[in-house]
Amino acid sequence: MLEVAEKRNKVSVNQSDPLAQELWAKCLARLKTIIPEQEFKNFFLPLRAKSFVGKHLSIFVPSQFFYDKLESDYIDQIAETIEAVIGPDATLEYAIVVDSGDGLSQPLSMVLPGNTTNRHPAVGKPQTTQQEAFSPFYGSALPDSFLHDSNLNSSYTFDNFIEGDYNQFARRFGINISKNPGSTNPFFVYGGVGLGKTHLVQAIGNSIKENFPNLFVLYVSCERFLNQFLDSVSTGKIQQFNKFYNQVDVLILDDVQILKEKEKTQEILFDIFNNLHQRKKQIILTSDCAPKDLKGMHERLKSRFGAGLTVDFLRPDLETRVAIIQHKLQKDGIIIPTEYMEFLARKVDTNLRELEGVIISLVARTTVFNTEVTLDSIKDVIKDIVTDVDDDLTVPSIISMVAEYFKVSEEKIQSPSRLKDIMLPRQVAMYLAKEYTEQSLKYIGEFFGGKDHTTVMHSIRKIKESVKDDAQLKRALEDLGNKLRTKQH
Ligand code: ADP
Ligand code: MG
Repeated sequence: MLEVAEKRNKVSVNQSDPLAQELWAKCLARLKTIIPEQEFKNFFLPLRAKSFVGKHLSIFVPSQFFYDKLESDYIDQIAETIEAVIGPDATLEYAIVVDSGDGLSQPLSMVLPGNTTNRHPAVGKPQTTQQEAFSPFYGSALPDSFLHDSNLNSSYTFDNFIEGDYNQFARRFGINISKNPGSTNPFFVYGGVGLGKTHLVQAIGNSIKENFPNLFVLYVSCERFLNQFLDSVSTGKIQQFNKFYNQVDVLILDDVQILKEKEKTQEILFDIFNNLHQRKKQIILTSDCAPKDLKGMHERLKSRFGAGLTVDFLRPDLETRVAIIQHKLQKDGIIIPTEYMEFLARKVDTNLRELEGVIISLVARTTVFNTEVTLDSIKDVIKDIVTDVDDDLTVPSIISMVAEYFKVSEEKIQSPSRLKDIMLPRQVAMYLAKEYTEQSLKYIGEFFGGKDHTTVMHSIRKIKESVKDDAQLKRALEDLGNKLRTKQH
């Protein structure tokens, strides 16, 4: 990480210079075309232009986290954009908003240098003693420090990888591997998008480096591996490519499903895999599905992938999602009521990357615009970021559906009336709310005149009992269940 410049100056977030704004708008328009949409929304939309002096563009970033992320993951795209929009000697500087001010005092920001120029220190180095050294990550002859660069993101650690039922085994096993690399080979992790696979394998890599500084740990996404291989074919450097990968002590290959149908790349991977495996070098792989389900992957490779320990990531449970939100907000010094965290965790219920996107946007809003997080601002951000929100599957929407079905008013269902014609729909609504919303009994009870969880539990039991010999009720539950299921996706 770059050193934090000591320079602190007072600036106003809202008064940026118009030329800077115009240039930054052009940069954004260009970045939008080269950065994946979700990432663009998360990391670029919250940025604001600050000033433009000489060829020096300065932008506000909401937190140190943003700065680290931009400089580590998007530096190439940013540098290229700044050069295209402003010119070859253009530089970029970041102003991190550390205090948004309170109307009386001005916001405070901290200035950090960007790394847009001179970003390939290796380029142009004399190629004297390193003729043999080759890294497909950099191309040609390089000093050792580059040759053994792990390509890991140091912000992915075990400490900030929250443990819950859904990932407990994978996380604990990961820690175990980081203490005994080579012991379980390969370690294959699979599961859906945004569940934490990359975080876990990077944390293993970072931890191995800490425990065994002499081991060459290498992280590579399979997309990059594929491109490097294709490059090495076109430049006649297949041998060097092979040699480079065979000197790795811990190889972490992310998203191997990318190599489906890529015959030649699979062949070279098979060779590298066998070579490393025989020498007890640790291999760690991730994928979106189990090894046996990797269609378009050679059988012999599939069987190698599945020969060690395979773990799958399930969907994170509500409690873990709340813990993750809490952890991420705390890191940025933001406190929001637990109900809000729960609300957010219920709305974004599978993809942790989307959840993180929402949190980043919330943090950006609070730090840049100095506003408090409210339920409305959470809903707003969710609308922008989350692709699939279940607005229909809320307790009130279920009550309304049940009311319509039984032809009673919603108010009556929610009232304490003990008339049979009203009690039955009320109990059905409670039952369906439990089945379809993942809400707690206490939460559900609140929609029925503040009934406590034992009453809700009793109603649900009652329905489960009655349905056994009440055909009419059975049909009602089926009809309503069908309606709810169509709303689920
Ligand atoms: P995947 O590789 O499975 O698609 P990622 O590892 O990229 O998912 O995770 C998506 C985001 O969610 C990352 O920013 C990651 O740090 C965060 N994340 C995932 N799992 C956890 C967890 N258990 N604790 C904290 N953050 C997590
Ligand atoms: Mg991933």
